[in-house]
Amino acid sequence: MSDVRWFCRGEAEWAVIVERLKLTPCPHCRTVGTLIRHGVLTGFDDSSARKTVRARRIFCSNRHRRGGCGRTVSVWFADKIRRLSLTTRTVWTFLQRAVAGSIAAAIRASKSSRSDRTLRRVWARFQRNQSAIRTALLSRGPPPHGPAASARRPASAQVLTHLSVTFPHADCPVAAFQQATRAFFV
Ligand SMILES: [Zn+2]
Repeated sequence: MSDVRWFCRGEAEWAVIVERLKLTPCPHCRTVGTLIRHGVLTGFDDSSARKTVRARRIFCSNRHRRGGCGRTVSVWFADKIRRLSLTTRTVWTFLQRAVAGSIAAAIRASKSSRSDRTLRRVWARFQRNQSAIRTALLSRGPPPHGPAASARRPASAQVLTHLSVTFPHADCPVAAFQQATRAFFV
């Protein structure tokens, strides 16, 4: 399994990565000139009724006397989330609803897109990851002041506010977080 993960915003950004592959040092062994394309990871999510490309792989070739290390890098589309059949946008909308009202209400509102079980799992993953998310956000800037920072607001609501002020121009703050931190949000 790959232990290095990159994110890209879309096909154009992937094309740039491919174009520069021969000049890009392998993130594992730092060798230049050994990275090659190595297949795709497809799957279902709520962006389409068909399978879509979720990630692509890059291989540091150790074949034919190329001096690579044989390890791989996964390059994920920033709006996909590993082991989850939802896009970041759906997750973002669901979490915002959940902190604004209740999880039950957020599930009712999102029902058309996914099952209870999936959405409850998203909430559990978000809870589990919250301190890691907060740490990553703090390294980029302080949390907002004012009413949004009120001590009476639950921590999960504060994290989402912090996320949206960290990536104010992002189409989807969850995707922007993944791209910037090279880590999955949940
Ligand atoms: Zn390598």
